[in-house]
Amino acid sequence: VTAAIGCDLGGTAIKLARLEGRRIASTVERPTPKRAPAGRLADLLAAAARELRAKTAAPLPLGVALPGFLDAARRRVVHLSNLPALDGFPLASALERRLRSPVVLDADSNAGAVAEARLGAGRGAERVLYVTIGSGLGAALVAGGAAVRASHHTIGQVAHFPLDGGGALCRCGQRGCAESLLSAGGIARRAGLRPSKLAAHSLWERAAEGDGHALAIWMETGLLLGKLVRALAGLFNPEVVVIGGGVAGAAEFFLPAAAAHLERTLPRHLRARVRLKAAKLGRFAGAAGAALLAQEHDG
Ligand SMILES: [Zn+2]
Repeated sequence: VTAAIGCDLGGTAIKLARLEGRRIASTVERPTPKRAPAGRLADLLAAAARELRAKTAAPLPLGVALPGFLDAARRRVVHLSNLPALDGFPLASALERRLRSPVVLDADSNAGAVAEARLGAGRGAERVLYVTIGSGLGAALVAGGAAVRASHHTIGQVAHFPLDGGGALCRCGQRGCAESLLSAGGIARRAGLRPSKLAAHSLWERAAEGDGHALAIWMETGLLLGKLVRALAGLFNPEVVVIGGGVAGAAEFFLPAAAAHLERTLPRHLRARVRLKAAKLGRFAGAAGAALLAQEHDG
């Protein structure tokens, strides 16, 4: 059994998983020290990884998934919006020095996509499109088990795909970007609430209680997601589209509207093959995917 460790370095939490074959054997979670300098962050990641390999004689490969841009060789962070201390930092070599084992970095959307495609909701499909919605929005395509890399190791800037010309102003300067409408903050904003994860969560609870306004916001969310998936499915021709990230917890309230939009708008030859599903692997999907990417990079 090939073992590897994966780390999902997020803005609020650092999640690590030890993967043995296809099974998550153990996990560790730490709050992200947002103001720590880069060296201190590397110390913390290395210490957490050491906990997971405690009883292993051989050094285990480590994969680290990050929500940002990486250099061409995936050794250095170019830009990480929620942890600017890491900008320009050679994270892979810093961790290799500390752990004496091979380290590979990747985009967090790729890690989640590879995990869902190989171990989760996309198992058995040749082409899986993964859309992750939480505090941001990302997407990745896995073909034949591997992430497709078109630009900065991703399929492109799906977060800024224009969905609605009249929508909210995005940080990129454009109106109606997928991320500014569909992220947790964007969903809250469309409901007239202050944009936050907490507000999006309260809309989920209110929908579960049958609140009409909350249900309508989730229906609108499904329609907007349907438009995004319609465009991406037309380009990438996936068999399965998996929706992951924190917002996917509320999938029962928005996925049917998205599926209905696809049914109405996809051309017949695509409609017959595209299946829309909620992610299966939960909170450690990114970490598990990072471990799979480390196994592959090492082997
Ligand atoms: Zn934008």
